[in-house]
Amino acid sequence: RTKEEGRGHYRLFEPEMKVAMQHRRTLEVELRRAAVAGEFEIFYQPVVSVPEREVVGHEALLRWRHPERGLVAPDRFIPLAEEIGVIEPISEWVLAQACTAAARHPGEGRIAVNLSAVQFTSRRSDLVKVVASALGASGLSPERLELEITETTLLRDTEGVLATLHALKALGVSIAMDDFGTGYSSLDYLRRFPFDRVKVDRSFIHKLARDNPPVLRALTDLCRAFSMHVTAEGVETEEQFAAIVASGYTEAQGFLFGRPAPREGNAPLRSGRL
Ligand code: C2E
Ligand code: MG
Ligand code: MG
Ligand code: MG
Repeated sequence: RTKEEGRGHYRLFEPEMKVAMQHRRTLEVELRRAAVAGEFEIFYQPVVSVPEREVVGHEALLRWRHPERGLVAPDRFIPLAEEIGVIEPISEWVLAQACTAAARHPGEGRIAVNLSAVQFTSRRSDLVKVVASALGASGLSPERLELEITETTLLRDTEGVLATLHALKALGVSIAMDDFGTGYSSLDYLRRFPFDRVKVDRSFIHKLARDNPPVLRALTDLCRAFSMHVTAEGVETEEQFAAIVASGYTEAQGFLFGRPAPREGNAPLRSGRL
């Protein structure tokens, strides 16, 4: 009976909330099935040197090829994957795939992989071991691997995250602060955490290239003062490119140079573990 009464409450929010909840449940079931069915793929986006525009590496970006809905972007399923506890096996697969693909192409430079905040606080798996085994299994040299983290990771258990970052760096991999310029983007992050690179968020690049290029320059000066490399994200136009060249960026990513795309040898994820 309590269940019935509980249900009754939903009527207050109908119909939007009911539809949203049904959609979420469907997505959850499908997401758990997706891994087993091998529906995940990795797309790779080139990272180029500035101003030469030579490819110096790639970023691995997860995609879900849904049988009916087509290609689903990570922003639409990663938060849910984190919530329902399937992000870890998915992330481990991404890491293993990306390292293996990069190891097969020794001349291709760096491979960047995004990490979830959940991986830093997990009691189920040890991130440092996961990274070490992806390196070991693929034979990729650690200096070719860069791990990207966002502010969400830093907002959690600071001491724990700091210790994990140092342990990861001890493996020989590098660490990038992703999406800088969104959220708090505290300067204190740059002081406290051992980043090798800062990636300036696309929204920042777009607005500043148009309205206030001196701030784009100030950001590269700031990163350099912290001995960090700096990458401009989301460069779409020649005007934006000119602004980042003039502002001292040494690397860039964006549709102007190349969109994320699949590549040969992407084995589907098959795992009964989810
Ligand atoms: P991100 O790491 O900041 O990745 C950059 C995002 O910007 C990608 O979106 C990319 O497709 C998009 N992008 C690149 N250049 C341009 C441009 O010139 N213009 C525009 N408008 N967009 C551009 P995507 O692939 O949809 O990924 C979104 C976010 O999902 C990523 O942001 C990352 O935070 C997360 N993500 C992707 N793959 C993974 C993964 O394997 N694990 C985890 N935990 N997160 C992932
Ligand atoms: Mg990233
Ligand atoms: Mg980013
Ligand atoms: Mg992002």
